[in-house]
Amino acid sequence: MITCPKCGAEAATPYKTWIIPSREALQKGEEPKLVVGLFECPDCEARFRTALKFEGKIEETASIKNMVERIKGIREELMQTLKNLREKIKTLETERANLIIEIEKLRKVAESRVNVLESEVGMLREEVNSLRNLLGYADE
Ligand SMILES: [Zn+2]
Repeated sequence: MITCPKCGAEAATPYKTWIIPSREALQKGEEPKLVVGLFECPDCEARFRTALKFEGKIEETASIKNMVERIKGIREELMQTLKNLREKIKTLETERANLIIEIEKLRKVAESRVNVLESEVGMLREEVNSLRNLLGYADE
């Protein structure tokens, strides 16, 4: 039980905890044992820190906090991804519009070339016919 050093009231749960890695434990590859909790007295509002034993409850609090942080991180990543995707979509839409305009231009160029060729072929046919007539090959 944690009590306020000023007034002796019971402080329920720390509003912040952090783990102090003990060199010994780290060398042995064990969990760090020392946890420090930051408390605020519910009566006199004094703030104090106390070393806590590494207990399941605190571990749980820490892991929930870690999870919240991780979820926050994932959410931020998702927001960033979404933003990037929106920008990409915007860029692609602009590119598509430009390509459609270019295709339309090329189509018109191709069509006018076809028209020119058709009229040229028509003129050449007439020329061939008139030459045939001139040479008396009209019946062939
Ligand atoms: Zn107090």
